[in-house]
Amino acid sequence: MGAVTVGNVTIGDGNFAVIAGPCSIENRDQLLEIAKEVKASGAVILRGGAFKPRTSPYSFQGLGEEGLKYMKEAGEAAGLLTVSEVMDSSEIELVASYVDIFQIGSRNMDNFSLLKRVGKSGHPVLMKRGYMSTIEEFLLAAEYLLKEGNTNVILCERGIRTFEKLTRNTLDLSAVPIIKKMSNLPVIVDPSHGTGRADIVAPMSKAAVAVGADGLMIEVHPNPRKAISDGQQTLDYQAFAALMEEVGELRAFLYNQQPFKPMAKLKAL
Ligand code: PEP
Ligand code: MN
Repeated sequence: MGAVTVGNVTIGDGNFAVIAGPCSIENRDQLLEIAKEVKASGAVILRGGAFKPRTSPYSFQGLGEEGLKYMKEAGEAAGLLTVSEVMDSSEIELVASYVDIFQIGSRNMDNFSLLKRVGKSGHPVLMKRGYMSTIEEFLLAAEYLLKEGNTNVILCERGIRTFEKLTRNTLDLSAVPIIKKMSNLPVIVDPSHGTGRADIVAPMSKAAVAVGADGLMIEVHPNPRKAISDGQQTLDYQAFAALMEEVGELRAFLYNQQPFKPMAKLKAL
């Protein structure tokens, strides 16, 4: 068993952490609102992309530093830690100055020069599994960070590419118990990118709890249909609150742990 502690949040060793927020940071007021809403439902870390790895170079590439400023402000205002992707070594210092946790995206999991530099930075990291990578390759990528002395590493299963077309990716939940056997790093699950379908984010979140995940990463937006990116897999506030309630109840049932429910009462924030 292993855990990573960042600020007042521990992930692993029985501590379940939910990371939530928009795919892309779109504007200041919206991010502040999202932060307060997800906090009220029990999330402890705010996510949002400022530097976005998009399949098409013509798609929205993110707000860059402006977005990171909003992230810092929203995290502080809501009392949430923050995570955002660092896509390139040249952004390491900039991103570290605004967010608590670096995200290494799926497309960069085997960018070893980036991993070495992120490892050297010592800044906490959430590393996503490459969508074409085996579990062993995922663990070896984590070793690149650990070898540089950075032990604050959280792994994230986010689905792999298969022949299945009804989902965006195939969420490989077997990775969770296997990684737990083979390493002592905490593992969370991202059913948003892992399925690409808002309608199955809740059941796959519960499955992630059942296989022993240490947390979840969920995309949330006030109006998913209008989201700049990944709206099809994004939950609105109501769906996220319902998911948190169900996940909390399942954790209480399976692991005798506190449901998130009491947090919902803090809506006054
Ligand atoms: C993200 O979480 O913003 C993201 C781009 O995910 P992934 O790297 O898993 O595709
Ligand atoms: Mn996304």
